[in-house]
Amino acid sequence: MGAFRYSALMSAALLPLTLAEPFRIAHGTSTTRTVLRVARDGRAAEAPFVPYYGEDPAETLAAIQRGTPLAELSRTARLAYDLLEHDLATTAAGRSLGDYAMARLGQPSDLTPAGCRSLGIPENLEIFSERVATLARQFSVLKLKLGSGDLGLDLAIVSVARLAAPEAALLIDVNGGWDLTEAPLMIWKLMDYRPALIEQPLHHSLGLEAWRDLRSEMPEGAPPIFADESAQTATDLAGLAGYADGVNVKLLKCGSFDGAIEMIAGARGLGLGVLLGCMIESSLGITAAAHLAPWADWIDLDGHFYLAHDDYDGITYAPDGSLVMPGRPGIGAVLR
Ligand SMILES: [Mg+2]
Repeated sequence: MGAFRYSALMSAALLPLTLAEPFRIAHGTSTTRTVLRVARDGRAAEAPFVPYYGEDPAETLAAIQRGTPLAELSRTARLAYDLLEHDLATTAAGRSLGDYAMARLGQPSDLTPAGCRSLGIPENLEIFSERVATLARQFSVLKLKLGSGDLGLDLAIVSVARLAAPEAALLIDVNGGWDLTEAPLMIWKLMDYRPALIEQPLHHSLGLEAWRDLRSEMPEGAPPIFADESAQTATDLAGLAGYADGVNVKLLKCGSFDGAIEMIAGARGLGLGVLLGCMIESSLGITAAAHLAPWADWIDLDGHFYLAHDDYDGITYAPDGSLVMPGRPGIGAVLR
């Protein structure tokens, strides 16, 4: 883009985020997260740190303060500055990040996907059932985290959710929690509950061979299988095509807004479905990603709902669960 120059003198700060309640997935349980906030000329952007990516917030900030070249900074830092650059440039042009994406991805063919709410691995299935039923009144798409380490609990989670939300589209996210003997069996058993898709059933460290083996053992009529941790950027797509049916695209994985655009375009070109995801971050980060929603088949943009205090106003969800963009230039989120 234009005249943007990253400078260590731009304001950069770590912002600890407290979660409203512990969030458990196959990778572990979080009670806090951290985002990097960067700002210039009254505009701000952020990118999240994710514990399982191994990027250290304090080291990242120290590297910024030392004036480390942008290309050598952590992925979180590169994304934060990239989003700030896009926010400044699009705002100056009176346009939104979505307008910028439109110029590259073209007019979206379908309606923006319905909003989705995610549920971490529950402690108590009765409370979980009530939570599912409540969320299903607004949201027609629910994402369930499995990979608890207990296959019986994984099945119970889906069974309870299906009973509590008979009509909902259920996105199942295993976060790599099953091995190659468990995954085909679990996918077969879960078919009773009509999942709309199953995300990352196998640990990404098992590589493409495991995806190939899983595909060969897939039961007939199985739901689409999406890759998340196995698909970090557009360069991972060609290898997965034929084994996976779709990919989860996240800004942080790509490290830039253009990288996410490239991954969406690449997935489309290979006939792969697109789930647009996020991390646990404030509305500032979530709203940046949401500008890509019209080009996704599914969206999972609810990371800000986990926060005890979200200091930005950005996307909202209408009473029918549809995504409402803020309608402002740039990222379009504003400090509360
Ligand atoms: Mg996932």
